[in-house]
Amino acid sequence: MPGFELFGSAEKKEVHDVLESGILMRYGFDAMRNNHWKAKELETELQTQMQVKHAQLVSSGTAAVSVALAIAGVGSGDEVILPTFTFVASFEAVLMLGAIPVLVDIDDTLTLDITAVKKAITPKTKAIMPVHMCGGMARLKELKEICDTHNLKLIEDACQAIGGTYEGKPLGSYGDVGCFSFDFVKTITAGEGGAIITNNDEYATWADNYSDHGHDHVGSDRGAESHPFLGYNFRISELHAAVGLAQVRRLNDFIAIQKNHYTVLREALSSIPEITFRTTPEAGEENYSFLNFFLPDLETSNKAMVALKEAGIDGCFHYFNNNWHYVRKWNHLKEAKSIFPIAPQIKEALSTLENKTFEQSDHYIGRNISCLIKLSWTEDEVKLRASKMVEAIKSVL
Ligand SMILES: *Cc1c(COP(=O)(O)O)cnc(C)c1O
Repeated sequence: MPGFELFGSAEKKEVHDVLESGILMRYGFDAMRNNHWKAKELETELQTQMQVKHAQLVSSGTAAVSVALAIAGVGSGDEVILPTFTFVASFEAVLMLGAIPVLVDIDDTLTLDITAVKKAITPKTKAIMPVHMCGGMARLKELKEICDTHNLKLIEDACQAIGGTYEGKPLGSYGDVGCFSFDFVKTITAGEGGAIITNNDEYATWADNYSDHGHDHVGSDRGAESHPFLGYNFRISELHAAVGLAQVRRLNDFIAIQKNHYTVLREALSSIPEITFRTTPEAGEENYSFLNFFLPDLETSNKAMVALKEAGIDGCFHYFNNNWHYVRKWNHLKEAKSIFPIAPQIKEALSTLENKTFEQSDHYIGRNISCLIKLSWTEDEVKLRASKMVEAIKSVL
């Protein structure tokens, strides 16, 4: 990843189709659009590839998570359990619905710790939202069992994990709803965009309506359509969908390339006894967009990051020190900084984060280094990179 590294003739052709007709809107304008329906085609393609009944495109991954929560009935005062290691978007989406994000510790999968999830359940809990970070996945079977026992919804934030599988099922298709992002730096990019997938017919209709101001999309006169309930504009444009369509058709090729590069790097790093790797649940296969490994302690990881940088190795992240992906530095949220007044119950929930510590998460994130796997590398580049990484890390051990 990211998919933009390999933009080519397929992406250009799809975009050209849209610009030729000039219709950038996904709905309506039937007579003028030269029969191009890129958003619809991409939804069909996603249904096939993700082996689900329904896919709904939206304007971003953040919108996808918001829509997923909304159709699952998450609203004012409801609690949603999610991990401390995520992208800030998953947290924001919960807040947007007036619901309360409840952060819990991660384990060596870099996603939700099952014991921590069980402890966090209260009568207000409505959903559990695992975030399949860096192409790997949460312990979905255990999470599903918890959801079934407590009558909760399972919403998969698979924004970083398209192409990975669990029990042979595409990530995102295991829970009640799954979310993808097609933003500019994701494995599949549309520039901006996102999707939700589900097998629930009612959810699919609600997602379709909710993401377009509540339009019921019945009949052919958009202005005369009725509006069963409140909605917003989370629509994707035909131009973005066109890029996404070309990219999604190449998903399997992208994953195969990532897997090759990942395997070379992992084998090289395996020669260092102090290194351990992120745990992938037994039934899972990641999408190989990142190689995640652990060093013995925080200090070694800090030093390794410096050494990797000095060796000219880019694209490695130490999320412990990152402003966007880990709760430690989310001061703007802990202090409930907002340009508009926010609900007292949310303010209160946020304020509890101010003094909260997540020692177990620190233990894993502090030692973790996450290296992006690029699609555009040549085999020689990967080999050279592997030997440079081994040398740099050995030098600090
Ligand atoms: C990228 C991402 C999102 C949000 O996607 P956008 O398309 O950038 O809005 C949400 N969750 C995770 C885990 C992400 O990585």
